[in-house]
Amino acid sequence: MKIGIIGAGISGLSIGQILKEYFDVEILEKENEIGGIAKTKIVNGITYHLVGGHCFNSKNKNVLNFVFNKILSKSEWHLVERKAKIFFKNHIIDYPIEFSIKQIAKFDEELAFNITKDFFSSKENINPKNLAEWFIQKFGETLAKEYLIPYNRKIWNQDPYEMDYTWVKDKLPIPNKKSFFLSLIRDIKDNMPHSFFFYPNSNNQQTFINALSLGLKIVKNYPVKHIEKVGNKYVINGEKIYDLIISTMPLNLIPFVIKETPLEVKKKSRLLKYNRVTNMLWETEPVENTWTYFPDKEIKFHRHIHIGNFFEPKNSRYTIAEVIGKHSYEDMLNYAKKLDYLKKPLDYNVSEHAYVVFDKNYRNTKNYIIKFLEDYGIYTLGRFGEWEYYNMDICIEKAMQLSEKIIKRYG
Ligand SMILES: Cc1cc2nc3c(=O)[nH]c(=O)nc-3n(C[C@H](O)[C@H](O)[C@H](O)COP(=O)(O)OP(=O)(O)OC[C@H]3O[C@@H](n4cnc5c(N)ncnc54)[C@H](O)[C@@H]3O)c2cc1C
Repeated sequence: MKIGIIGAGISGLSIGQILKEYFDVEILEKENEIGGIAKTKIVNGITYHLVGGHCFNSKNKNVLNFVFNKILSKSEWHLVERKAKIFFKNHIIDYPIEFSIKQIAKFDEELAFNITKDFFSSKENINPKNLAEWFIQKFGETLAKEYLIPYNRKIWNQDPYEMDYTWVKDKLPIPNKKSFFLSLIRDIKDNMPHSFFFYPNSNNQQTFINALSLGLKIVKNYPVKHIEKVGNKYVINGEKIYDLIISTMPLNLIPFVIKETPLEVKKKSRLLKYNRVTNMLWETEPVENTWTYFPDKEIKFHRHIHIGNFFEPKNSRYTIAEVIGKHSYEDMLNYAKKLDYLKKPLDYNVSEHAYVVFDKNYRNTKNYIIKFLEDYGIYTLGRFGEWEYYNMDICIEKAMQLSEKIIKRYG
């Protein structure tokens, strides 16, 4: 059986690795480089992540075993401690904010008191109507309104009062009243998967991506523009014939390349919203942390990733500064004027799909399109293939789950 996989990002490469042991597998990639959103490039000898700054970890033992036993051995990675900070009301405090109330009290006792009071009086177990309400219920009104709602408004470019909240579970450290209390009397840490993370010893995430591609048949510079069902086969671009297709290309685009897509599905696809991201690599004054969040709406950046601190040995003079949406090179330079530790711009990139926007219609809309694709016979996988907030580890987990299903059915 011949399987065609659309896209050589983390999802397509991962499922390709598993399925190639059972089937004839070919990956079709529109770009001339593999890695999708996670790919990197070397600039002045420094790894530049064209989108984000990808660190790897997982809570799932099977994912860790797959990566360390099959793809890139654990000795090829080093462990980095996350030292994330928040630039909050012109002060640098530790992430997560709910464990940094003592630090807030040093510059604003009243605010620290109100955060604490509201946190302890917040009510759980009520169905929130939107993301903003969910934040208020989980974190209390003051913390939600002073930090979580403004920060989320910035990174989604959407009003959190208009957003779905169901996707957020496991994406944020959620304190309970006991851990919040303990943070007031001693230093404590959250246990999110990225509180420690792995980065390749080569100091380049592309080493992992390249290892993930070993032994795979990948056709680069091959955009899938047309899919048609002929008998029980799928024909891509009028020339490549497969028994089965797995798509990791964005869910809002695939209906437009399938010949038989009904108008209603195309209409729905136009409702799916996403954000692009613009980033710039900077040479900087030395910084000790791994990344910094900027909730302040006067600062255009939402996050600075101090990529040099992912390396071993550390090189604390390199930062990737991110802004949601498409911005010009000159705009990025202007935004940087407010932060004088950014010394010299080295590179610049505007992404395509970066963040799924979880508006209130997203779940119904994406389910409708996925159902059409399933009925048509195409499996969807990955961050934009499934239209979900997946990190690399979840993409690998989903690839493992889908491959199991396919092997059971056709293997
Ligand atoms: C700013 C940012 C920071 C992030 N940071 C982290 C992090 O620190 N750690 C982490 O684990 N995850 C992180 N992620 C998430 C991570 O990037 C994704 O989970 C993962 O890279 C998604 O892989 P994918 O294969 O599902 O999708 P993609 O990477 O989007 O791959 C899809 C592939 O399909 C190709 N394609 C699209 N259309 C076609 C077509 N018509 N024909 C052929 N090919 C096509 C694309 O070129 C691409 O290569 C981050 C994401 C962002 C946006």
